Amino acid sequence: KKITIAIDGHSSTGKSTVAKQIAAHLGYTYVDSGAMYRAVTLFAMQNNLISAADFKVNELIGSLHDLKIDFQFNPDLGFSEVYLNGTNVENQIRTLAVSSFVSQVAAIPEVRYQLVKQQRQIGEAKGVVMDGRDIGTVVFPNAEVKIFMTASAEVRAQRRFDELINRGDKVVFDEVLKNVKERDYIDSHRANSPLTKAEDAIVIDNSALTPEAQLNKILQIIQT
Ligand code: C5P
Repeated sequence: KKITIAIDGHSSTGKSTVAKQIAAHLGYTYVDSGAMYRAVTLFAMQNNLISAADFKVNELIGSLHDLKIDFQFNPDLGFSEVYLNGTNVENQIRTLAVSSFVSQVAAIPEVRYQLVKQQRQIGEAKGVVMDGRDIGTVVFPNAEVKIFMTASAEVRAQRRFDELINRGDKVVFDEVLKNVKERDYIDSHRANSPLTKAEDAIVIDNSALTPEAQLNKILQIIQT
């Protein structure tokens, strides 16, 4: 029987890496819910609705119906990529600029309402591994397996920093660390669906776990 697997946790804990591996292992669909919040943020940036100077929240809410987000499977990569109004934005949503605004966008109740609705529709298919912040608490409270991943902020910032440098972005470690800590704070303190561990989630602190050890641990949890 196909089940639903919810993987939540702090930023840059490697949720998506392990979620993709589990999906590939089980033949399930991987859904990156954070990519959807990032795509809305990119849309807001492209339409001058958000900048360091101001944030046109009501205009963003008003334009949510103009915004279509979907996923298309890329057979070369082995997972689905996110599309904003028909354009593949998988790369554009990973910049530090998008990361610096995304938690503010994700705190808007209307944004969450729309994306959660779409996430539940995708989940109806079963056989889904979805990662995010509120998957085990809000999106799929009945998920059969719930994992909550965490690691020290420094370890997470180093991983995100290496990722950004690898893709050729010019970033400073301290700014990446600051972003990780800021997102932790905003994500955990927002009024609407704050990041919290579901009561029945299993915590994995992977500060000192190799990716292989972590994958095995989660596969064991799924099999029991
Ligand atoms: O997972 P990722 O780090 O790409 O998510 C980016 C941001 O999107 C998070 O920092 C959080 O603000 C928001 N998010 C959320 N709920 C989710 C997934 C992501 O609020 N389920």
